[in-house]
Amino acid sequence: MERTAVLERFDVNNVRKDFPILTRTVNGKPLVYLDNGATTQKPRQVIDAIAHYYTQLNSNVHRGVHHLSQLATDAFEVTRRKLKPFINAAHEHEIVLTKGTTESINLVATCYGKAFLHAGDEIIISTMEHHSNIVPWQIVCEERGAVLKVVPINEAGELDMAAYRSMLSDRTKMVAITYVSNALGTVNPVKEIIDLAHASGAAVLVDAAQAIQHLPIDVQALDVDFLVFSGHKMYGPTGIGILYGKEKWLNAMPPYQGGGEMIKEVTFAKTTYNELPFKYEAGTPNIEAGICLAHAIDYIQEIGLDQIARHEHELLEYATRRLLEIPGLRIIGTAKEKSSVVSFLLDGVHPYDVGVILDKLGVAVRTGHHCTQPLMDRYGIPGTVRASIAVYNTTEDIDALIAGVERAAAMLR
Ligand SMILES: *Cc1c(COP(=O)(O)O)cnc(C)c1O
Repeated sequence: MERTAVLERFDVNNVRKDFPILTRTVNGKPLVYLDNGATTQKPRQVIDAIAHYYTQLNSNVHRGVHHLSQLATDAFEVTRRKLKPFINAAHEHEIVLTKGTTESINLVATCYGKAFLHAGDEIIISTMEHHSNIVPWQIVCEERGAVLKVVPINEAGELDMAAYRSMLSDRTKMVAITYVSNALGTVNPVKEIIDLAHASGAAVLVDAAQAIQHLPIDVQALDVDFLVFSGHKMYGPTGIGILYGKEKWLNAMPPYQGGGEMIKEVTFAKTTYNELPFKYEAGTPNIEAGICLAHAIDYIQEIGLDQIARHEHELLEYATRRLLEIPGLRIIGTAKEKSSVVSFLLDGVHPYDVGVILDKLGVAVRTGHHCTQPLMDRYGIPGTVRASIAVYNTTEDIDALIAGVERAAAMLR
């Protein structure tokens, strides 16, 4: 009963009306936007908030006593206040605003590295990590003399959990793992990964860049030490990112950058640092994006992540079934638990050429290595064609994708 009632309330055509860009054409065809893993489109609520900020509020935050600065500061802090229940953080000051997932990971790698990593310590990542969850750890390993270990995956694109268990030891200081793979769509068993890491005394960073907009996340239930994600992949503005960190870590680590805002008192002899979270927020932040992210959170919560996940899952299953009907098409990433991403290859055809033909038909997908070159190497492929799904996609979008891929197959083979 309840399920029916909920489903009735979700009408994708109503959702689509909130996204002005979806009415435009590309190459003379209606836009079919299936590159949501790269960035999502923005609803009118977020676009209007951006205009409102610049017409009514524009001012620097946390500084002036004047009216506009107070208004901007309050609006900026509303976002932090909304993020707390959104991920169920214990404290608002455990939420640091950055410019994106990449900066959040670099912050943790740098500051955690300075505080806790020594020669011979080990960091574990996985084969399916985004370059942003590989390179910062390589840099810090080089600096500290630590060792990077990589959990392998099976052919389906699932983590080899037995290998993970055997890699953990008292030398392991950090496990940095993606929640959902941006290239394969695999949903990793992060709770189990975290529990095993904690049993070995290691901290865990979860890259939630592809999870936060698709499934409900509770940082306290997960007991995760750090969780990172980007505003622009969750219907919000570009240039704002989130770092959730447990208070004990954020207090124990040194600051990331020095400058305004992150200080309590500066003299030439000694500087003391501001309290959390400002200790990690040096300089003027992206105020516009910070304020307007709150509207993206509201938007997601009004629809509800359960409802979003159900809709996207239906489309993912439909897309998978239809793609597999195309002769010579291979799906890369066939994990049991998947979310929102389907990556594929047409036998004997370069992914780029498929992408070009799809673009001519108004269908936006991503082609290439998806910032996961080691993962592509694991499969011995140069890249894939990736369709990634968001709340506003429809079965008609999938039909357009299928028609385009069939056309590409006919033209290129
Ligand atoms: C997009 C993405 C990142 C990087 O996010 P930015 O917003 O570019 O900083 C990291 N990890 C995953 C899994 C991603 O999809």
